[in-house]
Amino acid sequence: MNTSRLTERLHTLVNQLPKHVQLVAVSKFHPIEQIMEAYRAGQRQFGESRVQELCSKVTQLPNDIEWHFIGHLQTNKIKQISSFVSLIEAVDSLRLLQAINKEGERINRRIPCLLQVYIAKEDTKYGFLPEECRSLFESVTIDAFPYIQFKGLMGMATFTEDRVQIKAEFEQLRALYDEIRQKHAAFVPDFSVCSMGMSSDYDLAIEAGSTLIRVGTAIFGHRSY
Ligand SMILES: *Cc1c(COP(=O)(O)O)cnc(C)c1O
Repeated sequence: MNTSRLTERLHTLVNQLPKHVQLVAVSKFHPIEQIMEAYRAGQRQFGESRVQELCSKVTQLPNDIEWHFIGHLQTNKIKQISSFVSLIEAVDSLRLLQAINKEGERINRRIPCLLQVYIAKEDTKYGFLPEECRSLFESVTIDAFPYIQFKGLMGMATFTEDRVQIKAEFEQLRALYDEIRQKHAAFVPDFSVCSMGMSSDYDLAIEAGSTLIRVGTAIFGHRSY
C-alpha cells in the first residue's frame, strides 16, 4: 500500500473515534516500514499475534511503542514477552492466567492482562465463557493472582454479515464488563478496558461501548500471509 494513504487512513480513523476509545493498530504480517509510517503519523499502540514476529519487531522499532499481544499465547512463550508487553489481550484459559502470574512473580512485574471472553456463536475461537469468567471473579481471593493486573475484557464477534448479531454480541460483552467492574471493584481496581471491534465491525463495537478497538486491515491494507 502507498504509505501516504496509510497515514491518511490512520488519521481519518483516529479523527472518527470518540475520546474514550483507544486504537491499537494491528501490525501483524506488516513490515517495519509500514509500522514506522504509522508511528510517524502519531500512532503508539500496536498489536501483534505471534511471539516470534513481535520479538523481532520490538528490536527494530522505537522503544516508546506500546505492544499489545492479541493472539493466542502459548505458556512456554510467555517469558519472551513478559518484561515489555503493555497488555496481553487474549488470556483465554485459567491455565494461561496462572502461568502468566507465575512468570510475573519470577520477574517481579504485575503483568497487564485482559481476559478473552467467548461471545461468538461459533466454535473456532478461544476464550472464557461468560459464566466461567463470572465464576473466576467470584471464586478467586484477592491475592490469588498478585502478579496479574486485571485490566478488563476482550472479545471477538462471530464472523458473519449479520450486523444485528454482531452488535448483540458486543453488547453482551460490555454488560459482562460492567457487571464485573461493579461487583469486584476492590479486586480489579484497574478494570477499565473493554476491547472489542476490528476493521469490519469497530463502528458497532463503539456503539456497544468498546473502549479499545484493534484495527489492522483498515489501516495497513490486506495482509499477505
Ligand atoms: C488480526 C486481528 C485483528 C485485526 O483484524 P482486522 O480485520 O485486520 O482489523 C483484531 N483482533 C485480533 C484478535 C486479531 O487477531
